[in-house]
Amino acid sequence: MSSLDWVFSSAREALYGRQVPRLKTTRESAIITIPTPRRVRLLSDGLNPVVEVGQAIEGGKLVARSPVNERFQRRIHASLTGTVTAVREDHIIIEGDLPERPPLTHGVPEWIAPEAIRDTSREAGLIGMGGGMFPTYVKLSHPAPIEVVLVNGCESEPYLTCDHRVLVEQRDQANCGAELAMRAVGARQGMIVDREINYPGGYERLLIHDTLGKVVPKRGLPRDVGVLVMNVQSALALHEAVCLGRPLIDRVITVDGDAVGRPGNYRVPIGTELGHLQKVCEIDAAKAAMILTGGPMMGTAADEATPVTGGTGAVIALTAEELGDYRPQPCIRCGQCMEVCPYNLPVAHLVESPHKVVLDCIECGACQFTCPARRPLIEELRRAKAVVTAWD
Ligand code: SF4
Ligand code: SF4
Repeated sequence: MSSLDWVFSSAREALYGRQVPRLKTTRESAIITIPTPRRVRLLSDGLNPVVEVGQAIEGGKLVARSPVNERFQRRIHASLTGTVTAVREDHIIIEGDLPERPPLTHGVPEWIAPEAIRDTSREAGLIGMGGGMFPTYVKLSHPAPIEVVLVNGCESEPYLTCDHRVLVEQRDQANCGAELAMRAVGARQGMIVDREINYPGGYERLLIHDTLGKVVPKRGLPRDVGVLVMNVQSALALHEAVCLGRPLIDRVITVDGDAVGRPGNYRVPIGTELGHLQKVCEIDAAKAAMILTGGPMMGTAADEATPVTGGTGAVIALTAEELGDYRPQPCIRCGQCMEVCPYNLPVAHLVESPHKVVLDCIECGACQFTCPARRPLIEELRRAKAVVTAWD
């Protein structure tokens, strides 16, 4: 590794959210590349297409980009080699075959300059792959001094194990991406954190406090305390873009839940529709009471046409038994919501009598997931926030 102060943190401990189950049944499932989907649906809302219907295209070539004057630039690239069959206002369809993955390699090229790393990450369409989907180059370009790059491999949300598998199978490549990020921002220290912690311990401000003892100011950002946090797969994508010239065209996701016949970790082209995953992973639509893209805490309901994006960490198909009876019941004053909250917020009280302390809520969803009365607490907390914001 580099001569810089490089630290690996692999302690096995549970620090937060003891009541949110981990459900990491796919931890030992090696990454499998899925069979080629018939087509991919690349979301291009707000972008200018640079391809036409009928055009032959190679995997990795640019298909759409932000208007030049857009503040945060985005790019999307073909994730199949084939033909463009539709160009719509909000998506582009490509039919074809999977492009070959380059052989594994690692090691930061000596010659690469910080500016080149930032430019490459912009042109390769790299984004935060932990769900935020914020352009990586913007994070790497901010003038705030950064001392530490922290690669977040904690993946505390229940079911998700895709980042864990990437660290098991491609740790050297993720390290390389982290070193590139360090070089881009001039950080002296880098750290991969992959403790097994319960939800919501993987939230970046909790992770920063636990790992570095630094407190991110309320409503502030990690850069305010000299830290840049990036997801494991974002680091891997940075390595692939800079060292292999490969833009973001695929990612690893976890597919799990009791309605899934073949749960596991799958490498999928960006734009793969859920309908294809349903067949490959044997998701039983009749058994599934709910199918989500993302984990059970932060995920959103999805259907067959929903595509995997760069920020999709999982597809979870839950049965009615797993969901339980999710009709809300009156609050039973058990206090579990406060116990599980990373900020010890008096949740049940706050949703009934809003107080400005509710603005500290990071909407992690732990209280709602834990509530035995199935209260829609996130919705109620947002309402309480709107009330106190209106006071100002
Ligand atoms: S109150 Fe907010 S921060 Fe606390 S557990 Fe609930 S959603 Fe998370
Ligand atoms: S909101 Fe839910 S978790 Fe909180 S006290 Fe009421 S019943 Fe218990």
